[in-house]
Amino acid sequence: MGNTAIVGFGGAGYHAARALREADPDAEIHVYTDSPDAPYNPMLTTYYVAGRIDRETMMPYGPAEEIAAKLGLCLHRERVLRLRARERTLVTASGEERRYDDIVLATGSHPLVPPIEGLSADCGAVYVMRTPADADRLLARIREGISSALVIGASWVGIKVVEALCAHGVPTTLADMAPRIFPTATLPPVAEEIHRRLEAQGIALRFGSGIASIVPSGGGLVSTFSDGASLRTDVVALCLGLRPTVDIVDPAEFGMGKGLRVDLRMRTGVPHIYAVGDCCEAYEMITRQSMNVNLWANAFEQGEVAGRNIAGVPAQFGGNFIHNITHFLGMDFVGLGDNRSEGRTVSYRHPTEGWQLYAVLTGSGIGCINLLDNHAASGPAKAALIKRLTAPGTEIGPAARLALRESGLPADIIAEIGGY
Ligand SMILES: Cc1cc2nc3c(=O)[nH]c(=O)nc-3n(C[C@H](O)[C@H](O)[C@H](O)COP(=O)(O)OP(=O)(O)OC[C@H]3O[C@@H](n4cnc5c(N)ncnc54)[C@H](O)[C@@H]3O)c2cc1C
Repeated sequence: MGNTAIVGFGGAGYHAARALREADPDAEIHVYTDSPDAPYNPMLTTYYVAGRIDRETMMPYGPAEEIAAKLGLCLHRERVLRLRARERTLVTASGEERRYDDIVLATGSHPLVPPIEGLSADCGAVYVMRTPADADRLLARIREGISSALVIGASWVGIKVVEALCAHGVPTTLADMAPRIFPTATLPPVAEEIHRRLEAQGIALRFGSGIASIVPSGGGLVSTFSDGASLRTDVVALCLGLRPTVDIVDPAEFGMGKGLRVDLRMRTGVPHIYAVGDCCEAYEMITRQSMNVNLWANAFEQGEVAGRNIAGVPAQFGGNFIHNITHFLGMDFVGLGDNRSEGRTVSYRHPTEGWQLYAVLTGSGIGCINLLDNHAASGPAKAALIKRLTAPGTEIGPAARLALRESGLPADIIAEIGGY
């Protein structure tokens, strides 16, 4: 029996604690959290702002103290200020220094807020979306009454913030310096279709020019873009991406990329120190490189892998996979693989239901798939992509063909993406 510290109690930290407890009933497990809330699912924050769920539903595992009692955890509601990695010692905000046999870093990530001309740190009208507190803040402002909003960043987070604002009838503009929505996932024709549908719902779009300044003006903000155009809104939401929260480590002690580099057992380069979830960079199957892929399912699996390994039950992470599945404003978008892939594009539009598939076929497999409005096809399409990725040059098997057929794809398209 050893003692283990888990720093951060989000999805990754929770699953690390649970897996460790399940594999070792005697383990001493200390969990440190700087959040006043129970482990929350950041994906649910915008549903709460939109009024679709209540506040507690953002916390799918229940109150933190109940989880601690059930799993036999020592819960420390305080921030860890520093990790002395080689000594395996945590220094906490209360000044405590404690050594552990194993330490799991599950500190997540935080929204990127770059320096923007005119924007000061205490500017009240600028919002980000990550935590229940961020959601509370935006919801309170919406309830006070706002008549316009600008969301900067046409990302997964950005579009969900747009959706939440629209749910309250707030006229909203979505802007991004990239030329199209979900720039790391969409193929151009799919993005164009999404743009048309957003504009038809009254959402103004501004793509292709970055933000130059955001200046407070009469209780609101005037945002000026790099092409010289400007827009006055009551609020601005910055959804410009995430940065791993790794401030407690000395980067020189670790292998660092965009996050703490880990092997498939979620071990960092420092013995007995593990990293899981958004704060780490793990193997990615398409690029075959280490990559920071911020997905709930990754946080879940990586936490479990670390927990088991610490308990002495060998476990390996299956690998990251670039994919995004999102439902927003009446649409279902699924992006699988790398949209920079080069090759031949095949496409299909269902004659009556209208859903669409685009796939980029590379020499030996599939580089990227976009699906619009056929969520059911995402599982089989993902399986086909992984199969052709992990065994280049081979075709998908009969079960995968059947699954694709049942999802509604015609035989010729299945043959194309199935490689036969
Ligand atoms: C709006 C939004 C939409 C999303 N949509 C999707 C989606 O559709 N699909 C999907 O798969 N993923 C989505 N994600 C991403 C997904 O939510 C994350 O990948 C996942 O929640 C990461 O979990 P985590 O435990 O690594 O990090 P977090 O949930 O960030 O947990 C980390 C915790 O550690 C705490 N912490 C940090 N530093 C310290 C410290 N020094 N001491 C103590 N505690 C500390 C933090 O306060 C936090 O509570 C979305 C995220 C957002 C914000």
